[in-house]
Amino acid sequence: ERLNNHFQFVEVGRVDPNKVPAKKRKKEFAEIYHPFEPGEAASQSHRCLHCGNPYCEWKCPVHNYIPNWLQLVSEGNIMKAVELCHQTNSLPEVCGRVCPQDRLCEGACTLNDGYGAVTIGSVEKYITDTAFALGWKPDVSDVVWTDKKVAVIGAGPAGLGCADVLVRNGVKPVVYDIYPEIGGLLTFGIPEFKLEKSVMERRRAVFEEMGVEFRLNTEVGKDVAMEDILEDFDAVFMGMGTYTYMKGGFPGEDLPGVYDALPYLVSNIDRRLGFSATNSDFIDMKDQRVVVLGGGDTAMDCNRTAIRQQAASVTCAYRRDEENMPGSRKEVANAKEEGVKFRFNRQPIAIIGEDRVEGVKVVRTQLGEPDENGRQRPEVVPGSEEVLPADAVLVAFGFRPSPADFFDDASIKVDDRGRVDAPEDSEFHFQTSNPKIFAGGDMVRGSDLVVTAIWEGRQAAEGIMDYLDV
Ligand code: FAD
Ligand code: SF4
Repeated sequence: ERLNNHFQFVEVGRVDPNKVPAKKRKKEFAEIYHPFEPGEAASQSHRCLHCGNPYCEWKCPVHNYIPNWLQLVSEGNIMKAVELCHQTNSLPEVCGRVCPQDRLCEGACTLNDGYGAVTIGSVEKYITDTAFALGWKPDVSDVVWTDKKVAVIGAGPAGLGCADVLVRNGVKPVVYDIYPEIGGLLTFGIPEFKLEKSVMERRRAVFEEMGVEFRLNTEVGKDVAMEDILEDFDAVFMGMGTYTYMKGGFPGEDLPGVYDALPYLVSNIDRRLGFSATNSDFIDMKDQRVVVLGGGDTAMDCNRTAIRQQAASVTCAYRRDEENMPGSRKEVANAKEEGVKFRFNRQPIAIIGEDRVEGVKVVRTQLGEPDENGRQRPEVVPGSEEVLPADAVLVAFGFRPSPADFFDDASIKVDDRGRVDAPEDSEFHFQTSNPKIFAGGDMVRGSDLVVTAIWEGRQAAEGIMDYLDV
């Protein structure tokens, strides 16, 4: 009878998985959400209305079959649900953890209008984690191997998405990465309180068993020449990300005590996990008054890492208001609970200090006319200068593309912003100006999301297979 109750959403409200209390979690680098219990996952999934034309599916960048797998979970059929999840997504357990669901699937859920959206992300994570715990693995026993092999440069979500689709279709992927572990920013960027590293280790074992080969600690263009790769493989996919740090362009950015966000985050990951992905030393915020500049996911991760390193205080200054923050609202709320102080509508104009940083000079802003992207431009309020005292400053203004030296020789064209030109809608999806080379993820669209990188990698794999005629 329960399964036929179409008004379940009225009786059963949205319930998110429990979180570790802020007091405890701000001392540890571990995921903050507990998993759903099976009964909870089923009753939350059962809230889905099965809309005729599900907006959540359209808003989800990989177009997951969301209502269908929610139905399977409500019936307790995890094995079917996990198969369905993997038809559209290569890393559902990762997306369930790190997608900004409030802006994607859950933001589009019909129930978001007052009743509380279905907890789509948490159910997606539940499905994959539970299936793996029960011993599930992708079944590739009926794959017929072709004689084609493809080099994938970059083991981030774009590269992994591409390799996943290729290997399931009998095309051998060999994935190169500079780093000693797969995942790209999933491993060397996103902190453990959002995504524990064991998740990627588990996925690596699964991919290897499926037939994906990883050549780690290997930089293409340095340890192995692109020329050789082009000779040895039938096609190439590049998913190399964006790694040029944006600067504020104001005085004081070079003062000691001012750090770029990513080396800071990676130094913490390196130290905790025994990697050495950056050559820089561990950057410790213990007892420091920390000011974080920026309002995206990277800024939030810096805030919460500094809190866990027992900073004396962490203040996040952002030039727009809270409504207009680009990061996930869920993570902003988590940061607040953990003790981060936000100063909205504050634009930095200088970092000040004699021999090292002493503070950040900011001006107040108000939102004015929309810019070319439709976002209101922050305008400075005259005479509103103030100084936020700081012993350390973390600059999280985002990333610009970082075209590789080999692009010219390999005839790979980039646009005026440095993004690789690889249109989705060309004859072969995501083909670059060199017909043998395809590209996707951040290096094509500019810094974005894990799930959009996965989508582009998967689509590029389709383009590659069309190109190879397999
Ligand atoms: P990357 O993940 O950057 O992977 C590129 C890989 O290519 C790297 O491993 C790199 O080592 C390798 N590579 C580059 N050049 C070479 C070469 N020459 N030879 C061999 N290997 C090479 N998105 C979300 O959806 N949710 C979040 O919560 C979120 N949080 C984030 C937090 C931080 C701190 C950052 C920086 C980003 C965050 N993002 C988040 C964005 C997301 O991580 C990226 O959009 C996504 O990882 C892009 O995937 P990609 O595969 O294009 O590139
Ligand atoms: Fe939502 Fe992301 Fe999962 Fe799509 S992949 S259903 S957007 S959590």
